[in-house]
Amino acid sequence: MRRGRPSPLSQDAARRRLLKAGSLVLLLGTAEIARGATIVAVRVWPAQDYSRITIESDGRLQTQQLVVGNPPRLAVDITGIQLNPALRELVGKVKPDDPYIAGLRVGQNAPEVVRIVFDLKQAVLPQVFSLAPVAAYKHRLVLDLYPQQAVDPLESLIAERLRDAGSAPAARSGEPSAAPPADPLGELMARRSMRPAPQDTPAPAPPAVAAAPARPVPATPSTAVTRPPPVTATASRTDRIIIVALDPGHGGEDPGAIGPRGTREKDIVLQVAHRLRERINKSSVGGNPMRAFLTRDADFFVPLHVRVQKARRVQADLFVSIHADAFTTPAARGASVFALSQHGASSSAARWLANKENQSDRVGGVSFGEHEVQVRRALFDMSTTAQINDSLKLGTAMLGEIKGIGARLHKPRVEQAGFAVLKAPDIPSVLVETAFISNPEEEAALRSTAYQEDLADALMRGILRYFAQNPPLARSRQL
Ligand SMILES: [Zn+2]
Repeated sequence: MRRGRPSPLSQDAARRRLLKAGSLVLLLGTAEIARGATIVAVRVWPAQDYSRITIESDGRLQTQQLVVGNPPRLAVDITGIQLNPALRELVGKVKPDDPYIAGLRVGQNAPEVVRIVFDLKQAVLPQVFSLAPVAAYKHRLVLDLYPQQAVDPLESLIAERLRDAGSAPAARSGEPSAAPPADPLGELMARRSMRPAPQDTPAPAPPAVAAAPARPVPATPSTAVTRPPPVTATASRTDRIIIVALDPGHGGEDPGAIGPRGTREKDIVLQVAHRLRERINKSSVGGNPMRAFLTRDADFFVPLHVRVQKARRVQADLFVSIHADAFTTPAARGASVFALSQHGASSSAARWLANKENQSDRVGGVSFGEHEVQVRRALFDMSTTAQINDSLKLGTAMLGEIKGIGARLHKPRVEQAGFAVLKAPDIPSVLVETAFISNPEEEAALRSTAYQEDLADALMRGILRYFAQNPPLARSRQL
């Protein structure tokens, strides 16, 4: 069995195997062969959800890839290029803490063929696709390495909660000790683990072969929680955790807007989300503890519909997308808050911004299989008037608080437009433009700890004010 062979494939034998074993080989772009394409840049985006390798070139690349089982490796042949220094840099760009890639080798396998062999830390489902030039990018070849069992957002949230609970006594040793609180999230986890596994749980992929698998969608409920948790107390039915989904915009290949000093939107919004998470995790609503869930907690790209799916998977009570965009003129300034609109945008600026945000998938890089197109379409057709009304209330509460910290408001009321990321039909959802990163003064503010703290305080107060007027319903996490 070749999957048991530990050494790298020898050149000719491997090539024959690639050609002979038709079922093991994925062919991409067979109609198009790039002659003399040159690699201009390589990037690696490691994350728990998936690790991505991007190979940027001045022409479209043709590839074949082969997954080998034991030890797990992925071999990728790129045809029509020469090994050059830009491509060699890939070796040094893999970090030791990459969840999926242990290391890689790259070599000129034949006069026109460069082979990259990835040594993997675990078996993966690779998703390989090409992206046409967009924004500042030329052609991109994208290799996404997904785990065989998709990361379940709910399980991640539970793990984080248990981790924090474990470290809490040490961190709060100065405080008077209280009876251990009921752990509603633990109870939720227990209930979920006892639920029968969904019928449509995908069969595990064959160990040695991954033939163009549909990309696992991290937020589908098909991923069962397998390990029963320690449950110490039975919470009352109303004692449930309040979950706020925080959605730092952009990430990975999509930097978002870039300020005059080079500040990247994706970095700023993640910092603000972290500050807001700290506050949320220390707060409660009507005696119910709050918990923040981040749709991304690292510098990698999350497609817009996956952000929505993740929030729905954890049954978030609120969804807050955080941005700091640029405008066409550096004079534009001020914070603004947006809700979804079903019937046209409330202003041309709102429409412009929604269009810009909805471009994120193209820049960030998404390959949609037919299944995902359907999921996305179905999801985005479900927006409701009730959700929009609640979102407007949440947005208004936040705008009032942002005004309170002395920040300028771009518009005095919540604006509306067709933002794809706000389309969770059952979760009040707002998009906060914290400031214009294209404005030199606001860029400086966004970079400062003081302003980020003020902003996080204001958003937190807005969330609490919303809940004070619209108490969370008891229903959503009662299974
Ligand atoms: Zn943005």
